[in-house]
Amino acid sequence: MKEVIVEIVSVGTEILLGNIVNTNAQFLSERLADLGLSVFYQQVVGDNKERLKEAAGLALNRSDVVIFTGGLGPTDDDLTKETVAELAGKKLSLHEESKERIETYFKKKNVEITENNFKQAMIPEDSIVLKNDNGTAPGVIIPCGEKKAILLPGPPNELIPMFNESVVPYLKKLSGRVFYSQTVKICSVGESKAETIIKDLIDNQTNPTIATYAKTGEVHIRVTGSAETEEEAHRIVKPVVKEIKTRFGNNIYTTLADVTLEKAVVDLLEAGSLKVQTVESCTGGMVAARLINVPGASNVFKSGLVTYSNKAKRKLAGVKKATLNKYTAVSEQTAKEMAKGTDLGPKADVIVSVTGYAGPDEEDGTPVGLVYIACNVCGKMTVKEFNFTGNRAKIRESATVNALILMRECILEYLSEKTFG
Ligand code: ATP
Repeated sequence: MKEVIVEIVSVGTEILLGNIVNTNAQFLSERLADLGLSVFYQQVVGDNKERLKEAAGLALNRSDVVIFTGGLGPTDDDLTKETVAELAGKKLSLHEESKERIETYFKKKNVEITENNFKQAMIPEDSIVLKNDNGTAPGVIIPCGEKKAILLPGPPNELIPMFNESVVPYLKKLSGRVFYSQTVKICSVGESKAETIIKDLIDNQTNPTIATYAKTGEVHIRVTGSAETEEEAHRIVKPVVKEIKTRFGNNIYTTLADVTLEKAVVDLLEAGSLKVQTVESCTGGMVAARLINVPGASNVFKSGLVTYSNKAKRKLAGVKKATLNKYTAVSEQTAKEMAKGTDLGPKADVIVSVTGYAGPDEEDGTPVGLVYIACNVCGKMTVKEFNFTGNRAKIRESATVNALILMRECILEYLSEKTFG
């Protein structure tokens, strides 16, 4: 099997100006890696015909498949289709089915259609049309000699479903191989330690391949197998994932693609019929927000307090004045008292508190990044000290993730004590 080289060309002056972040390229690169396809180059080019032509020519010269995103709109500066068709020597003609789809789309939205919208139904000859259920611009696959140009609309809510539904099956067929990936998501272990634990597996990898990705507070290990059939690819991946599971044990919070750390915590709370309360200072509600992001959080989430000032810590969270005076707001003692629970509000089984200095300036000699997180599960209190690095946003994010991780650890311990005594 010949290796298929894919290149991504993101079209849009907005990206070059930094007005929008190129999340399409990130999404595509990640998905293409999942499919076992090699992305050697990415380009970003503005809405300029000459430069777009140059970028497209370069890409089609060195890569087998070029995925273009953006510039499929109805206006004159949307040039991707016209430019690539010109390079491929393909004439455009009206595609009746796409025209009808566009008319129906506008009718449904009760918006008057303008003549330039039909520009989107002009399709280069010999192309494959990819239908767009979420917008007006159809995607197209244009044959360019031996190479293929895949043109997708810019808005992510149009691009993502079109890629998943139409492009993935096309690419799978093109590569002649089936790829299957499973990601093992780990917390409570740093990236270098995680890599050390599986160094022998990484060093000896061929098929499946093993790749580690560090996220704030987490490490994801992706195992990708390639084979001629789906079953065979699964069979290749399974024993390696099993071995990784054995090595990381309880530090694995999931092997499912759509489970996040906060979802794992919510699932554990549900499993133990536990209700949670958050009491936050420097994270300002970010722990509560992450938990509430999970559908079904209402079954486990009672309330969230943001006790930013010392007065709020005393009046709302019941921290003693003497504690604040003696140990300051950023201390183990304050974190514990914040997580003790008060008579105010509904009672929770699990209370998590966060207090720390996110900076940027040092306060009263307390270093920036010093954070205490406490977790009280049915009266059993655990408190941890952290020294995070980075700017204010990074420190707050690290504190939030580590609060979720500490909750997970404490709830797991509680559940195992309850089960095994
Ligand atoms: P439309 O049919 O809506 O005109 P289009 O295919 O012409 O879409 P663009 O006009 O290039 O796409 O971009 C439309 C919007 O899609 C942008 O304003 C932006 O919000 C989003 N978008 C475009 N490219 C990207 C990208 N690479 N990453 C993330 N979002 C993008």
